[in-house]
Amino acid sequence: MQALWEEAVRDIEPKVKPAHRDQWLRPIKCLAIDGRRIRLSAPNRYQKEWFEDNYLPSILQSLESRAKHDFAVDFELSDDSPAPTAALSVSPVTQGPGLRNDGPPPPPTPKGLDSRYTFEKFVVGPTNQFAHAAARMVAEAPASKFNPLFIYGGVGLGKTHLLHAIGHEIHREHPDWRIACITCERFVTEFIGSIRSVKKHAVINPMDEFRQRYREEPDVLLIDDVQFLSNKDSSQDEFFHTFNALHLAHKQIVLTCDKLPGELSGLEDRLRSRFTWGLIAEVAVPDLETRTAIVKRKAELDNVALPDDVAHHIAALVRSNVRELEGALLRITARSAIEQRPITRQLADEALKSYSTARAPLLSIEAIQREVASYFDVKLIDLKGPKRHRAIAHPRAIAMFLARKLTSMSYPEIGSRFGGKDHSTVISAVRKIERSSTEDSALHSQLQTLEGHLRVG
Ligand code: ADP
Ligand code: MG
Repeated sequence: MQALWEEAVRDIEPKVKPAHRDQWLRPIKCLAIDGRRIRLSAPNRYQKEWFEDNYLPSILQSLESRAKHDFAVDFELSDDSPAPTAALSVSPVTQGPGLRNDGPPPPPTPKGLDSRYTFEKFVVGPTNQFAHAAARMVAEAPASKFNPLFIYGGVGLGKTHLLHAIGHEIHREHPDWRIACITCERFVTEFIGSIRSVKKHAVINPMDEFRQRYREEPDVLLIDDVQFLSNKDSSQDEFFHTFNALHLAHKQIVLTCDKLPGELSGLEDRLRSRFTWGLIAEVAVPDLETRTAIVKRKAELDNVALPDDVAHHIAALVRSNVRELEGALLRITARSAIEQRPITRQLADEALKSYSTARAPLLSIEAIQREVASYFDVKLIDLKGPKRHRAIAHPRAIAMFLARKLTSMSYPEIGSRFGGKDHSTVISAVRKIERSSTEDSALHSQLQTLEGHLRVG
């Protein structure tokens, strides 16, 4: 019977823009057609209503002309958000959508939280200790200490993991709280989708719905990868008001980002300043010991017998980030399973052979400073010294930029290796180069040349 539904959907698909198809049409699934009743599921109330408003009438029309009778529609929401009130149901065929009277259901895990990302599974070491402690504190006493908590760091270093762990912990303590956990990209997409779908005289204004969803409903807002707001003016504006509404109402906000607020280009100052209102915590590349502990922990969680020397070997080889570490472990376990051999140093070497030759070892800051000094023909001592004229300051900024990009050093560390400069000096140098390199093609190619030399050198 579901085939009937699929045919009817196919009838209207050509009239729907591809972007809307993926966002608004496909997420609605037909669970069953039982006589004259159709059971549909929607990811959330918002999508359900949008679907009812925009697509359901045409689909029903097509369906009814095929089946030669009419249908009643029931909806189930997969995020278990509260069932909409009758007044909100605009479709004439909706039959009390999903109203269940068998007592309060057990609190579901809030939608959008990955069950793997809990505090229990997070391995703490010197480079994430502070961020971990801050995340714990926020989870234990939301909105009382640090609001917002801003977690930043490079790719694959545990930002999303910590963000979700906060969500799980708050949910455990306060099962009735509403936790909104989304990527910033999704926030932007939903926002744009709702602007585009505002229609005159509609019963439900998608914009009001969007605002209710993010400004009014959440007790906690967890937003991943806010760098996505860069250069998106209207979304920044919306996010600014969302932030203010929640902050004013003493609701906890946690943000993750791949940069410090001060380094984010294409971001309004008023938003940048709000990002710094609470606490900023960095996650950096874990040291060898922590990487070893992470590999062991992952193996343990996956029930993989991993000898200590192999764990250490993987951690020594894969230095870039935790996600790659997981990838390396996966390759080894896959090979062991396929070839039915136990995991040994030998097997690990075979599995990671292409890995070790494909990756350059982490560069040292000295190598970067030497390379930049020779490229611009300045003295190393000047590069690290206090001189401020452009002939020196420019290469210095480039060296700082490359150090940030190609090593795992923090800003204060980089500053200290340039004759004890303040971390804010390093940040503004890095930002300046980053910004200019998008417009200045000569600079862009200089950077590429230097990087090329450094990676082969
Ligand atoms: P990011 O959001 O910073 O790019 P993620 O949070 O997605 O990184 O982490 C990448 C992967 O590494 C995830 O599978 C995560 O569980 C794991 N991971 C990162 N840091 C740790 C850690 N300290 N302990 C255990 N697993 C970690
Ligand atoms: Mg992430």
